[in-house]
Amino acid sequence: MNNAIDYINTNRDRFLDELKAYLAIPSVSSAPEHRHDMQRCAEWTAAQMRDIGLHDVAVSQTAGHPVVYGEWLGAPGAPTILVYGHYDVQPVDPIDLWTSPPFEATVRDGDLYARGAADDKGQVFMHLKAVEAHMKTNGRLPANIKMMIEGEEEVGSDHLDGFIRAEKERLACDVVVISDTPMFARGVPSICYGLRGLAYFQIDLRGTKSDLHSGSFGGAVVNPALALAQVLTQMKDRSGRIRIPGFYDDVRPLTEQEREEYKRLPFDEKQYRKELGAPRLFGETGYTTLERTWARPTFDVNGLLSGFTGEGSKTVIPATAMAKVSMRLVPNQDPDKIAALFEAYVRKVTPKTVELKVTRMHGGKPWMTDLDNRFIQATGRAIEQGFGKRAVFTREGGSIPIVSTFQEQLNAPSVLFGIGLPDENSHAPNEFLNLDNFYGGVLTSAFLYNEIGASTGPAA
Ligand SMILES: [Zn+2]
Repeated sequence: MNNAIDYINTNRDRFLDELKAYLAIPSVSSAPEHRHDMQRCAEWTAAQMRDIGLHDVAVSQTAGHPVVYGEWLGAPGAPTILVYGHYDVQPVDPIDLWTSPPFEATVRDGDLYARGAADDKGQVFMHLKAVEAHMKTNGRLPANIKMMIEGEEEVGSDHLDGFIRAEKERLACDVVVISDTPMFARGVPSICYGLRGLAYFQIDLRGTKSDLHSGSFGGAVVNPALALAQVLTQMKDRSGRIRIPGFYDDVRPLTEQEREEYKRLPFDEKQYRKELGAPRLFGETGYTTLERTWARPTFDVNGLLSGFTGEGSKTVIPATAMAKVSMRLVPNQDPDKIAALFEAYVRKVTPKTVELKVTRMHGGKPWMTDLDNRFIQATGRAIEQGFGKRAVFTREGGSIPIVSTFQEQLNAPSVLFGIGLPDENSHAPNEFLNLDNFYGGVLTSAFLYNEIGASTGPAA
């Protein structure tokens, strides 16, 4: 192990030069004019994999951009890690807001500025260099490793599910390591172990076949805009609890250990409120802001449309009213079950004076790995060695659909260990990667393969 660590420490400058070359390829997946660069970037990634000693390296074409794969399976009996990442990047506009050109990686104040530096080429490269360190010094890895680096993450990973389904056997693994997220705060290396799911709907109410003059008809029929408002106010009570019967039945309560973990995080509620420009924060009674956004479900109105909204006034009773609404779900809520509960409740609270149509938009399952999972624990130990400090455990309020895909298709838990920063500008001008995080991340990844190779305990 020491050899690999020395190797990383003595090759820092070369690693940086190589990363700059990787970042110089404008692999913008959404831009047809970069199609050739996408192929070039996939080939570059594959060449790296071959150089560091991975086997069966392949650039696989899909109906979209290629997936790059490589593996080393010389540790029989040891766990198999699947490292997932993406080599595609976001577009760069508005280009004039960049201080240095997006595809000429530039170091300023210990940060490396370039499109893709943090999201996600820098983090993919971190794993490549950790593998290299083990292979060049020991000729082997402490665990089996498969790497799958895709080229369509920034455009919805349209062809990845198909690829995973088709390559299920080749991708079989014990754990997936995803390094594509920021840490909780500067200097606070984190492991994300939970994500929320989603259930999204459109509600349409119709009162009459067309808009009516409110002078002639006002008082004779219901106003759909008002009826919609009444329906929506039935969704939550004053303490922020969702009123859909059965909604909380499958919600997994926060454990004391989790609540303690969140309390230790450097989170300034006053500052948070100020940054949002909110007169006051609001959420479910009995929970902190972090608990509400990570581990409790929500109901939100995403949009409303009805009647006359132009300048001036128009005396009209709208014929229709529409709302887009969604719920963020937490383990172990099931989007289909929640959809059925929601639809039944909306039917019950909608007055008979309007016609109701509820349309299911999309849904996604929530996800979490137990804190005592052996791979989560191994990642914690690796961070402690790589960064020299205790890791914190966090969840995310949003979703990362690929995590559910890995669970469903490969039956493997994911560990989300990312070295980005919350202010890294990942989809904006002046994206950067902190170089201390990068080097700490390469060390941590090298320790991680070691810790996972030696880990025992509950795996699911
Ligand atoms: Zn990403």
